[in-house]
Amino acid sequence: MLSFSPKVVTYSPAYTLVPTYECFNRCSYCNFRVEPGSLPWMTLEQAENILLPLKNQNICEILILSGEVHPLSSRREKWFQLIYDLCALALSMGFLPHTNAGPLSFTEMEKLKNVNVSMGLMLEQLTPKLLNTVHRHAPSKLPQVRLQQLQWAGELQIPFTTGLLLGIGESEDDRWETLTAISELHQRYQHIQEVILQPHSPGSQQTFNAEAFDPHQLPHVIRKAREILPANITIQIPPNLVLDENWLLACLDAGARDLGGIGPKDEVNPDYPHLQVQRLREILHSGGWELVTRLPVYPQFLRNR
Ligand code: SF4
Repeated sequence: MLSFSPKVVTYSPAYTLVPTYECFNRCSYCNFRVEPGSLPWMTLEQAENILLPLKNQNICEILILSGEVHPLSSRREKWFQLIYDLCALALSMGFLPHTNAGPLSFTEMEKLKNVNVSMGLMLEQLTPKLLNTVHRHAPSKLPQVRLQQLQWAGELQIPFTTGLLLGIGESEDDRWETLTAISELHQRYQHIQEVILQPHSPGSQQTFNAEAFDPHQLPHVIRKAREILPANITIQIPPNLVLDENWLLACLDAGARDLGGIGPKDEVNPDYPHLQVQRLREILHSGGWELVTRLPVYPQFLRNR
């Protein structure tokens, strides 16, 4: 008797805590940041009040997503301690934290490793030409700074999520070069668990005046990424940024196998709400795919934790 294994796509039931929206960078496509000092930071008490009701909601991952305080600022230590304490709080309440707070020092990364099951930082694009355009006022987006983060994560054996932002002024070759750099670092350290391919999707706050990345191009990028990346790196796409159901399915057929953390709000793309998981499940089912949950740390890394 023939048996067919189901085609499986994963997602992580997640909630995002934002310690602060303030950021000393000014990426022109940003729909997240506020001016430093303009909003109070999250307190541990506020975080606990948010997390308590989530305990019964099948949520496992707490994504700690923060704007950045300058590494040389006198407020950096307080900022870092808040992030650390939020992770420790989430852990103590039974959640699994995953932090993405921009470039960290080696010591900061080493400390956060103790209270995170995995961490992340988008490489975005390595081409230096973006330093004259969308990253003109974003010192954290220096390609060598971000590559070094991936390397340090490898040295520290932190299961790591990274990715590309597509459609911010890069060429096709620039994309393949960025993917190749990720692949090479992974082959050295075996620590990259997933690569997000995030299409630029204009939001209401940004000043970058460019069209959205055409989602019809995504399957091609995914196929090429699948060729460049080692097989044990999963390709992730954000389903709220691929609004056409048929193209969402085309992305899966091309090799994407994960839909990322799905929660009440996409803090990075607040103008693009997520579909209900049940609706996503139906769309995927129509293409023969089964949507299943995963942890914020991939199974192959669990033995190290
Ligand atoms: S995209 Fe990230 S680094 Fe850039 S300004 Fe926004 S919050 Fe800061």
